[in-house]
Amino acid sequence: MILDHQEKPLASWTGKERISGETVDCLTIIFKSGGCSWNRCLMCGYKFERYDKTSPELLRDSIIRQLNWIFSNYKTDKFRLIKIFTSGSFLDPIEVPKEAMKEIVSRFSDKILIVETRPEYVNDIVLDEICGIMKPDDVGKNFYIAMGLETTNDAIREKCIDKGNTFDDFKEAVSEAKKYGAGVKTYLMMKPLFLTEKEAIDDMKKSIKESAPYSDFISMNVCTVQSRTEVEYFWKRGAYRPAYLWSVLDVLVSSDIHVACDPVGGGKKRGPHNCGICDHDLVEAINNYSLNADRGYLKAHLEKDCKCKSEWEFILDNEMPYCMPLTN
Ligand code: SF4
Ligand SMILES: [Zn+2]
Repeated sequence: MILDHQEKPLASWTGKERISGETVDCLTIIFKSGGCSWNRCLMCGYKFERYDKTSPELLRDSIIRQLNWIFSNYKTDKFRLIKIFTSGSFLDPIEVPKEAMKEIVSRFSDKILIVETRPEYVNDIVLDEICGIMKPDDVGKNFYIAMGLETTNDAIREKCIDKGNTFDDFKEAVSEAKKYGAGVKTYLMMKPLFLTEKEAIDDMKKSIKESAPYSDFISMNVCTVQSRTEVEYFWKRGAYRPAYLWSVLDVLVSSDIHVACDPVGGGKKRGPHNCGICDHDLVEAINNYSLNADRGYLKAHLEKDCKCKSEWEFILDNEMPYCMPLTN
């Protein structure tokens, strides 16, 4: 195996993250991998990130070279939390060959590690392997499995996202993770295709309540328009608008538990946005809330006024749902 060579990962950045009530320094890495085996979600632009499919050995070496690059370019000692993403599932052995997965876990075994995967790859085999690398106590304390549940509504997940799994699949993966003491981070997705603004808000409020018992923490993504996706197809035809930032605030403020949210693309046409005047302030408030969990602070922003607020309220009352045929 080539250990000295380096290759730049797809992306990596540093920041802060709230975990177990504490704000810690965090390094996020997106590895170039074999690509998502499911590859169908309607909003997902990662579908086009696929590398080194020629052989598992080449893919393994490429991922390890990317790991080497991280260790050469960051002082990893500085970070308590490492978040690992691929363009799909870190625990899918086709996408991330086993040896590469083990090498990554082993080199970060003294950190809090969050890895993202689809639920079907959370099983005894892979968790036994991870337990063999991290100290048994550490898996309970320091290892988190992040899964994109997106919504607890199976019909929305199927029709509006095409995620290919159910709330029950997620729950099964959660009990598997819990058997090993691992933590669970749940990702929800606000306003996928075909929902009105009001339906999107209601879906998130319900999903937060229903997924909370299965989650150590929840992070809500807000759907953005990524290029070459079905969402972009509809957006270009005026049939999709990303969520209003007011809606994001409304969901976060009304939740009983703290839900983190990084409104990627906030204030831009392709991301969650308002009128262009109040956007910057609200995006900053949402990002701050993700770290400080101060609901009063966020509520004060939701109570602010702007010329777009009455437009948003009008939309909530008047936007009509799409009429989709139930059969082909
Ligand atoms: S499972 Fe994840 S990576 Fe795969 S298509 Fe869906 S959103 Fe994209
Ligand atoms: Zn405004």
